[in-house]
Amino acid sequence: MLLTFYRFINNKSVFAGMMAQSKIAIIAIIIIIPLVSVILWSNESTKNLETSEDELQVYVSFYPLYETTQAVIGQKADVKILTPTNVDPHDFDPSVKVIQEMKTADLIILNGGGFESWISNMEFESGQLLDSSNGISFLKTESVDHHEIPEEEHEEHEEHEEHEENEEHEEHEVVSDPHIWLNPNLVKIQVKNIVERLSKIDPENSKSYNENASQYIEKLELLDLQIREELSSCSKKDFITYHNAFSYFSNEYGLTQHVITKGVHDHSQPTAKSIEGIIDLAKKLDIKVIFTEDTSDIRISQVIADEIGADVLTLSPIATQDKENKNYFERMQENASSLKEALCN
Ligand SMILES: [Zn+2]
Repeated sequence: MLLTFYRFINNKSVFAGMMAQSKIAIIAIIIIIPLVSVILWSNESTKNLETSEDELQVYVSFYPLYETTQAVIGQKADVKILTPTNVDPHDFDPSVKVIQEMKTADLIILNGGGFESWISNMEFESGQLLDSSNGISFLKTESVDHHEIPEEEHEEHEEHEEHEENEEHEEHEVVSDPHIWLNPNLVKIQVKNIVERLSKIDPENSKSYNENASQYIEKLELLDLQIREELSSCSKKDFITYHNAFSYFSNEYGLTQHVITKGVHDHSQPTAKSIEGIIDLAKKLDIKVIFTEDTSDIRISQVIADEIGADVLTLSPIATQDKENKNYFERMQENASSLKEALCN
């Protein structure tokens, strides 16, 4: 009997003990765990704040500059791109929020040559902006844009009164050709400008920036050799691409670029007349490949290719981030292989 009672008491205390343990567990769940998380979270957020305060705030206007600048900065900071992924950098116009953000930047790196036309209306502190094209001479190109004018913009185009009746508006303008990033030898100059400025604003990390820059320049030199090698055996020199992204590339590697659409915008539409002209030219030059771009409408290149029995291949202007996350070097090599296929056959 005593033994049974003892067992009962004992069991009860085990039960009570279990109860106590569960209570502790419940308290832990309700109070302690969230409390610890709050403490951890607040530590984490202070840490983030601290690092982002210490970290250089570096912005680049569009994608290709991101790869070069991030390569030079390495782990020291995260470079931010101003042009959103889904926006053609030719058309970028920063929002008020982005402009506010830019005001606090340590450095904003531009392509130059008038590519970032939005910058001309903005004021920055001296030293906040870097034109990465310093030392590069830009080619001139005619920018021809065919576009429909929305009603509210009619007033802004008063100087073209003769077009007021037309739905389609054509703008001719001589501008600098901005596509310097498609020539690795010009990118080398951009890297030099970037490392020079970074070393000036953050001398403590200058050694690391210079080492990273030298490595990147070596990679660019290797890429240049690979492209030269790839294209050297091709007897054809003329190719037809969508828009004039490859002028600097063509000059560097002895090629002749012909374009389907006139103008610096990869989305500007060709006229029926310019498509006819390109078909005639392709026949005359015995061209077997018509290029499209990764961001342009393939159907236009396809129509031309069908007309002359040619294939359609892609040349990337590398103006935005790759959907499969391929880097500049991989995309340039793909461009070179596609050109080889077009020019060596
Ligand atoms: Zn372009």
